[in-house]
Amino acid sequence: MQCAWCRRLFDGNEILEPPLDQLLPDASHGICPACHATLLEKRRESLRGTGDISAALDVERERLTLLLVVARRNYARLAARCVALEERTAIAVRHSREVLKAVRSRPRPLAAEDEAGDGVVSARHWPRRLKT
Ligand SMILES: [Zn+2]
Repeated sequence: MQCAWCRRLFDGNEILEPPLDQLLPDASHGICPACHATLLEKRRESLRGTGDISAALDVERERLTLLLVVARRNYARLAARCVALEERTAIAVRHSREVLKAVRSRPRPLAAEDEAGDGVVSARHWPRRLKT
């Protein structure tokens, strides 16, 4: 769906950036939550200007309810992303530990390869795959 006011695409309460240059002829058009909240804010101020405070408060209640729904959905989406990120991180850590374990289980260099006796092996003794 595309917002007829700001021309951004949106899905429910999720707004997709950036706004498009024009309205898409084949898209369904409506109003996104951000533009809806702005419209309600202008309506609230108009009612307040006329002195109809009760109606202005009703509109403000509607605006805040809309924003609450948007905030809850954004929170749920972010929480789901955090869970997915946590799972990916666990996989990466597990893989890193496996690589480290494999590296540590390699045979140590022979004493003859440690020419200076300082624990450093000359590059000419490195396995072929470590050389560029
Ligand atoms: Zn909009």
